[in-house]
Amino acid sequence: MEETYDVIVVGGGQSGLAVGYHLRKTDLKYLILDRETLSGGSWQHYWQSLRLFSPASFSSLPGTLMLGGADYYPSRDETLEYLRMYEKKYKLNVQRSVTVEAVARERNLYRLVTNQGTFWSKTVVSATGSFAKPFIPEISGMENFEGEILHSAAYQKPAPFKDKQVVIVGEGNSGAQILAEVSQYARTTWLTAKAPSFLPDEVDGRVLFDRASALYEAKKQGKNFQPPSLGDIVMVPSVKEARARGALKAKPAIAHFEKNGVVLKNGEFVAAEMVIFCTGFRPALDHLKPLNILEKDGRVHTENTKAEKIAGLWLVGYGSWTGFASATLIGVGRSARQTVEEIRQYVSSR
Ligand code: FAD
Repeated sequence: MEETYDVIVVGGGQSGLAVGYHLRKTDLKYLILDRETLSGGSWQHYWQSLRLFSPASFSSLPGTLMLGGADYYPSRDETLEYLRMYEKKYKLNVQRSVTVEAVARERNLYRLVTNQGTFWSKTVVSATGSFAKPFIPEISGMENFEGEILHSAAYQKPAPFKDKQVVIVGEGNSGAQILAEVSQYARTTWLTAKAPSFLPDEVDGRVLFDRASALYEAKKQGKNFQPPSLGDIVMVPSVKEARARGALKAKPAIAHFEKNGVVLKNGEFVAAEMVIFCTGFRPALDHLKPLNILEKDGRVHTENTKAEKIAGLWLVGYGSWTGFASATLIGVGRSARQTVEEIRQYVSSR
């Protein structure tokens, strides 16, 4: 029989690395499996001009600060470089180009079926993020649209959109930032389900983090507290510039598609050659299907990061349902530390 690990982490993005950082301080025998050839998780697929909306010192994994300080917003490539340096610095045990296809329970162990053979482990941490599951809502007439439909996950740069009629859907940060960039080259229309709400110019992603912290603390103390909403879209320089050009005006959402465009909920027709959906992601958890613990919404019931319906499984980094701010660089460290402590106790009590 193949060797048995104490812990196998599925996914070697920022969440998997944060878990690895804490695992390496224990005597647990661990392995991180990641399907990418290079390190950096989904950061290597984000669009080229993307910058973090929290400054460097608010965007670090445990143990090593990202360089740049409190007034510098690192680029995509600097974030990637940081993650690559981090993995190397802590000599994290990552095996690459391994896709975990199925996780099953067998002989009181986890059996992980991959494209590189079978692995066995006493526990599993799923840290696969959501980038692999872009979400596009189903809208009637879509199949008859003769233009191109893509998700923000596939967006890289504005050049291919030059002089095109482009519809951008979504009122989040991705929608606003992609609109800001593409509107410099194309005729754009921004469609949102609700009116976009912009943060004041002088605040950045730190404010969203502080609000989430206040909410988390209140919840922990059993208080029913809702911090005042300041807005959602961070006014990064490109978005401010688009506002100055008058490019940030939003129209209602799509009612249905037609051959050459879309009809909005207010009845207006908008001609379109390309539609970019900036409508978010769902957790990438298909590998857990054999365990029969996926709920209708595609999630797993958890207590913090620990799966409730099965022993020995943790989920890290998917958002607030797996721990406060766990889908951010600064937030995932806390989830990772607690997860590793729970795993340590679980393995020693087996
Ligand atoms: P990922 O980075 O997606 O890593 C998961 C890894 O698991 C990948 O390498 C993937 O290939 C691998 N994997 C998936 N399935 C399998 C499988 N079955 N087998 C093996 N490997 C698998 N966060 C911030 O803190 N600050 C920001 O400013 C910020 N800006 C963002 C801007 C955008 C546009 C987006 C989309 C996200 C942003 N985020 C930001 C959030 C952050 O980038 C993500 O939440 C983060 O990448 C999640 O990290 P992760 O490790 O959980 O997932």
